[in-house]
Amino acid sequence: MSKKDLDWGNIGFQYRVTDKRYVSDYKDGAWDEGRLIEDSMITVSESANIMQYCQEVFEGMKAYTTVDGKIVTFRPDLNAKRMADSAKRMVMAPFPEDRFIEAVDMTVAANEDWVPPYGTGATLYIRPFMIGSAPVIGVQPSPEFHFRIFTTPVGPYFKGGATPVAITTCDYDRAAPHGTGNIKAGLNYAMSLLQTVEAHKNGYVENMYLDAATRTLVEETGGSNIFFVTKDGKVVIPKSDSILPSITRRSLVYVAENMLDIEVEERPVEFSEVPTFVECGLCGTAAVISPVGRIHKHDDDTDILLPSGMDAPGPVTAKLYETLTGIQYGTVEAPEGWIHEIK
Ligand SMILES: *Cc1c(COP(=O)(O)O)cnc(C)c1O
Repeated sequence: MSKKDLDWGNIGFQYRVTDKRYVSDYKDGAWDEGRLIEDSMITVSESANIMQYCQEVFEGMKAYTTVDGKIVTFRPDLNAKRMADSAKRMVMAPFPEDRFIEAVDMTVAANEDWVPPYGTGATLYIRPFMIGSAPVIGVQPSPEFHFRIFTTPVGPYFKGGATPVAITTCDYDRAAPHGTGNIKAGLNYAMSLLQTVEAHKNGYVENMYLDAATRTLVEETGGSNIFFVTKDGKVVIPKSDSILPSITRRSLVYVAENMLDIEVEERPVEFSEVPTFVECGLCGTAAVISPVGRIHKHDDDTDILLPSGMDAPGPVTAKLYETLTGIQYGTVEAPEGWIHEIK
């Protein structure tokens, strides 16, 4: 075994085919025993539910090389649980949570040469997902599912890593009340592509979505949760049933309250109060913690400029970033059960 010959510091955030992937299929009411395979292609019927009615859920996680050379994942039990929750909402057979963690371990271990070395800023992105694989033509759930985990090495999601980004509001909504905003399903992304392309064209990394019912409350961005910091140093987290329960965000709340002695308020956040905040950040497995320096309001073409600015993260965001990434890379002692060692 030897590491792949990649320029680890400059690999970008893109798909690269790695050596092995884990697959398991659900048929006649049961998951098969699962195995690692080399084929990165999937063959399904043209009428498979995934092709016609988008029956799909997924997860996003990372494997990190720690300062002492171990390969670890971060709170994989929460990904296992969330994927099972997403599956139930989409009328799919949940993949057993204990087997999920084992399967992730197997996949990462089998692609060890692709796990970026410590200190490069890169990680091995892990993508577990599940599709409705049997043919259907009437609208109904698939009776069969294909579960797969592949991995791909990635650098920072936003170019520049922890340098501040600009985001924008837009004319479209992400998630309806009582809809699917709180599960991780590809369909939530399919309908976001139009406004994502538009945002990128205009120089914004992400759209900031407001609640679909009233368009007065802050929800999250396309692929990350959002947090704010008040003048007196409190962290404020928008609360809503249509926000995806980010594991990074839930971890930040714990880190702030229990490790950094920072007060956290989780509550509905009015868009009109955003100008009173001094820092803003995006958080998620891909985004890690990205400071936001500017929020564009598309309706009147004005900007909210966060006092922390566009040059560097504000002090609270920086502290959260250092502590969270320190836990993931083994330089800060982790809360019990957060770091799962693979090898
Ligand atoms: C995956 C995702 C996040 C981030 O969740 P993490 O568990 O922190 O990676 C945030 N918002 C949406 C819409 C997502 O799909």
